[in-house]
Amino acid sequence: MKAVLVTQPHHIVIEERPKPEISEPNEALIKVKVGGICGSDVHIYHGTSSVATYPRVIGHEIVGEIIDIGKQVINWSSGDRVIVDPVISCGTCYQCRIGRKNVCRNLKVRSVHVDGGYQEYIVVPQESIYRIPDNVTWEDAILIEPFTVAEQVCSRAEISADDLVFIMGAGPVGLSVLKMAKLRGATCFISDVVEKRLEFAKTQGADEVLNVKNLDVKNEIFRLTEGLGATVVIDSVCNVKSFEQALTYVCSAGRVITLGFSGEPSAIAQFTITAREIDVRGSRLHNNKFPVVIDYFREGKIDVSNWITHRFHFTAIQEALKVIENQEIEKGKVILYF
Ligand code: MN
Repeated sequence: MKAVLVTQPHHIVIEERPKPEISEPNEALIKVKVGGICGSDVHIYHGTSSVATYPRVIGHEIVGEIIDIGKQVINWSSGDRVIVDPVISCGTCYQCRIGRKNVCRNLKVRSVHVDGGYQEYIVVPQESIYRIPDNVTWEDAILIEPFTVAEQVCSRAEISADDLVFIMGAGPVGLSVLKMAKLRGATCFISDVVEKRLEFAKTQGADEVLNVKNLDVKNEIFRLTEGLGATVVIDSVCNVKSFEQALTYVCSAGRVITLGFSGEPSAIAQFTITAREIDVRGSRLHNNKFPVVIDYFREGKIDVSNWITHRFHFTAIQEALKVIENQEIEKGKVILYF
């Protein structure tokens, strides 16, 4: 079979590998159908991931069909349509014991620390798969994983209908957070520098969109919130400046959620956080969010039509990455067929 391998930063190859086999009784063999390309895959390719090791089969947004199961696998059979959870946790460390398995001490993430799903077949334990509802297409199912990340953000931010949420950045993460925050009834403002993305954000339920190019963002946020400030700020821009800015948009007793993976320090005075008792909380991957997000998809509460804009065969990964890297090309989610 073929696999997409990043051998070292900026080097990606299609490699011939032996087809994986079930070696443990709790495992399932899956024929991969579709894979979504995530920003984190691109970071691994560019060598800007602080956590990835090489060589690595990338891809953690993976849907496929079970073609074989181990002897102890229950409730699954060949032909079942599944989505693969990228998070692997040990179940015994402090973090797992307090229910925070996505930051497990021995955390392994598919495509980051162990091989991911850009391969024609993959073997995973039954704990790592979830059923795709019959009424959800393969393509829509690809978006379930990004929405688990968004649900994690909303859960870390404790977003409720009372909140005035400012989402910085209208890329795939920002937009999925927007939809999940709207499901919780919050008022949502979202910003970007690309007008087309903001227009799309309006169709996805944004109450106000802010083009930060020619705008005093802080003034605008305080105007929109009648002088209060945002009760929650989500930094889905994730650079040195955006974290500093986020703390100026949030109200006293508000929450700032970080999503970035950069190792570069921001300049933030302690007093900024202390004086107004701001909660700064990280949000990483997801903590058991597949069941709730899958329910939303089954119930039709998350409409993702028009989210996927580019489709490639996985052997054309180079072309797909060029589309993602090209700032001139308008795009949503880019996916690979296997
Ligand atoms: Mn992802």
